[in-house]
Amino acid sequence: MVDAVPRLQITPYGEPARRALAGLIAALKGGDPLRPVTVVMPSALAAVTVRRALARDGLVATELVTLPALVPRLAAQRLAIAGHRPLGSLEARLLVRSALSETQGQLSELAHHPATLAALAATFAELRPLTAHELGRLAAGSRRAAEVVDLYRAHRRLANGRADDHEAVTVAEEAVRADDGALDDLGHVVLFLPRRLGRAELDLLRALSARDRLAAIVGDGAVAAELEPFMGPAAGNAPQATTTSVEARIVRAPDPAEEARVAVRVVLEHLRSGLPADRTAIVSRVAQPYALLLHEELAAAGIEHSAPAPLRLAQSIAGRALLGLLRWPANGHRRDDLMRLLRSAPLRDPAGGATRPDRWDRHARNAGIVGGLEQWRHRLDEAKRARLERLTAPLVDAVAPTLPLDGIDTEGDGRIAELDALGSFVERLAAATDPGGRRGWGALSRWAEALLVKHLGNEAAATNWPDTDQRARTAVLDVLQELAALDGIGPEPDVEEFTRLLAHELERPAGRVGRFGHGVFVGRLVDAVGADLDLVVVVGAAEGTFPPRPLDDALLPERERGAAGGALRPRGTTAEQEAHDARAVLAGATTAVITFPASDPRTQRAQQPSAFVLQLGGEPHDIASFEWWLAAGLPPATPTEFDVAQLVRARATGLPIEQLPVVTAARLERGLAAAGARARGEFAEWSGAVGRWPELADDLRHPRSPTGLQQWAKCPFSYFLGRVLELRALEDPGDAESISAMDRGTLVHVILERFFRQRLGRAVDARWTSADYDELLSVADDIEATFRARGLTGRPLLWQAEWAALRRHLRKILDADGRDPRLVGVAPADVELGFGFEGEPTPPVQIDLGDGRMLNFGGRVDRIDRSADGRKLVVLDYKTGSAYNYGVIDAEHEEHDIVRRGELLQLPIYALAARAQFPDAEEAEAYYWFVGQRGAIEMKGGPVDQPATERFESVVRTIVDGIEEGLFPARPGADDWRPSIGPTHANCMYCEFDSLCSTNRGEQWLTIRTRDELDAYVELCDG
Ligand code: SF4
Repeated sequence: MVDAVPRLQITPYGEPARRALAGLIAALKGGDPLRPVTVVMPSALAAVTVRRALARDGLVATELVTLPALVPRLAAQRLAIAGHRPLGSLEARLLVRSALSETQGQLSELAHHPATLAALAATFAELRPLTAHELGRLAAGSRRAAEVVDLYRAHRRLANGRADDHEAVTVAEEAVRADDGALDDLGHVVLFLPRRLGRAELDLLRALSARDRLAAIVGDGAVAAELEPFMGPAAGNAPQATTTSVEARIVRAPDPAEEARVAVRVVLEHLRSGLPADRTAIVSRVAQPYALLLHEELAAAGIEHSAPAPLRLAQSIAGRALLGLLRWPANGHRRDDLMRLLRSAPLRDPAGGATRPDRWDRHARNAGIVGGLEQWRHRLDEAKRARLERLTAPLVDAVAPTLPLDGIDTEGDGRIAELDALGSFVERLAAATDPGGRRGWGALSRWAEALLVKHLGNEAAATNWPDTDQRARTAVLDVLQELAALDGIGPEPDVEEFTRLLAHELERPAGRVGRFGHGVFVGRLVDAVGADLDLVVVVGAAEGTFPPRPLDDALLPERERGAAGGALRPRGTTAEQEAHDARAVLAGATTAVITFPASDPRTQRAQQPSAFVLQLGGEPHDIASFEWWLAAGLPPATPTEFDVAQLVRARATGLPIEQLPVVTAARLERGLAAAGARARGEFAEWSGAVGRWPELADDLRHPRSPTGLQQWAKCPFSYFLGRVLELRALEDPGDAESISAMDRGTLVHVILERFFRQRLGRAVDARWTSADYDELLSVADDIEATFRARGLTGRPLLWQAEWAALRRHLRKILDADGRDPRLVGVAPADVELGFGFEGEPTPPVQIDLGDGRMLNFGGRVDRIDRSADGRKLVVLDYKTGSAYNYGVIDAEHEEHDIVRRGELLQLPIYALAARAQFPDAEEAEAYYWFVGQRGAIEMKGGPVDQPATERFESVVRTIVDGIEEGLFPARPGADDWRPSIGPTHANCMYCEFDSLCSTNRGEQWLTIRTRDELDAYVELCDG
């Protein structure tokens, strides 16, 4: 070492440190530029940027490397001679798994969990420098600590002959001590601004120092204290712990997304002033959510940058597809999983033909498929059969009871071909994803690779994917290769364990974006320590994320780590160290900006700046919204901001925005008109007044069920969406565990229909006998068997219990039938009377609306009872839902209304149909008969006499007039609140269009309900 050169210097970070380094290198070269010097840098970014800075004055024979890059060069020869192969991270974790499988401790049960293997491998890496004595002290701390140490020792035995990082540093130290030539090319070694060092690393440095080959420039007094025992006292002064040489601008943004925009705008400002992008860094303490946000904003602004890929391999096309394929059979061949997979990756059908996830999902939902291969087969067959027959086949026999009609076929035979294609695709995919008897890393990896290539295509097929996904495809295949090489390490995995470990491995970032050292650096804060930069932006400097709140180590908690006598450091870094790193990064730049979010978007909680930011002092600059930059007249950063800037300028100058190019190019004129009209509370085409259209009147001539008119009465806008525009939400068949509510209702209907059909014309005073009860249950068992055979009843065990309860309930229905005074003196005269629709023998119920308009109703009456003399009819409509809200149709109700303001029109229509069928009758009553298992069995309704019929006809006239006039306002009903939904409205609670309607629908209705053209409707619904 040159005598005049201090071996250990302590300097402030930034320019003073860089000047010291330049001086030290010059001194070590002693006037001979070719004399080698190796500088050990704290990060790769520091190596690249400081090299560029030093190169400005000429720099040869000087290498800038990181310590992990230097160690293998020193150790390589010795490791090769000893025949030690490197121990990779994956192998190390598999050896942990082997160690766990050999022991019987509490942790052994977790041997199949990749996260546990990773946690133990990380802990074992920490234990590597400990002596046997220190390990013994640690093990004495607790039973868990003893088990961890035992496992560690087993792991060491299994790893014998393999070189891990610790081994490499130790061998490097031996090479230095032995002076076996490893140092020849390095010349003097300069340690530049190191962060805290481990015990083995300090030993290596001690060996270098002993050979008089080491000098160091440090910025941290604590690190200097670690080096002083073998390098002598440090020259210079430690920088103040709470100061930086750079004045930082502090910005409080509304959320992380705005922080990312602020960062990019600041960068853009600097680039416009002529500063190079590669002397700029945006860093954060935590990757999420900043990595993705920053990449998107920089890419949108067209700024070259280098960053870890914001996506993980598991999120790439190849990762999603592979994990989806492997998990599909394990999760029970679920429909939703398959459709998610087909939508998330361009999966091919190896048999040719394209996959059609949207249409297939619709068909599978309509067929009631939830999951399970048997259900796929059975229900697709059933759907095909129903399609071929165009209506649901008879359930029990060819003449009597049937399921409700399936609707009118409007799609021709195309659907059958699609059902066929879906069925064969599911069969082929199920066969391909069945691992059979395969076990072991090699066999399963090769099979998984073949599965991926078969369903996503080869490399050529991926050429039109985004670059990141193409690179990720290669990386996913590399992971499979790594896994394939693990055969022989520990027990053979089955496909479940294989998939778990694969999923864990695919959590790696999907490569990098850009070229390292080119463009703006985006990364972790520690990766910028010691770097030479013009601008650094630190984002996410909020309390709780900078640094993240420390979590104690579950394997070796802090209090037990202390038992190792200081040999084991606390996990993670202290707030003080974090702040030190941050100051080091800021000091390396000439301009610094620090941002933090005012609130956390996930928790909606306000956030405070981190302690480090508070130490810097100074008031944060507040950013109110994403417009602030543009509103201040500053230049936009991205194409989106160019568009927003046009809008902001137009607003500021009072220009109408409808004609702006940005609006017309995006075809937003109609959307703007709609939003404006609704905001102004207008009742026009955008808020439900579409005007008279011939189609609306024409449609009313066809026989119809009353449900559409009821829907208009409740909320005209839902009628417009559902009946005029024919929108509908896709049904989710729900959980295959149990029978659906719709199938349960159909089952009860069909049982009652068949039972009472066999008793048509019985004596009105006959009582139900035990033979009747037995017959009811016998009928029920027959029909239940048909439902069960069709796979409609869910899991057998659950259904057994449910069916037993339903049988008991059927007896109660018959009890109620025999007891109810409204059914005394009458007996079943007809069941399932169809009327009005094509193919029905009975004509429609006609209502004269005046002006020559006739309205035809069609439908099906569940049951008609008749008195012995034929003068009285009682009409029943079975309901298996709740009777809640039906009280008003009871004759005794003080606000009695047989049609409940137009929302319940069935009873009068059915009564009119029954009277047409039995013209001798002089009076008719009609009831909804609530026979569901939840709640009491009860009847709601009453006489359908002249006043009731007149009320019905008047209400129908109001509804039809409203439809013909094209009045479709959204009427959400009264404010409501439900625990599962939160604030809502009475009419919207179960409406399938809830997500389509505007959020201020309540206020809109209050405004437009005062319009004259809505008088009749308001009178009907609110009057
Ligand atoms: S969500 Fe409410 S306002 Fe909208 S259509 Fe449905 S019921 Fe009407």
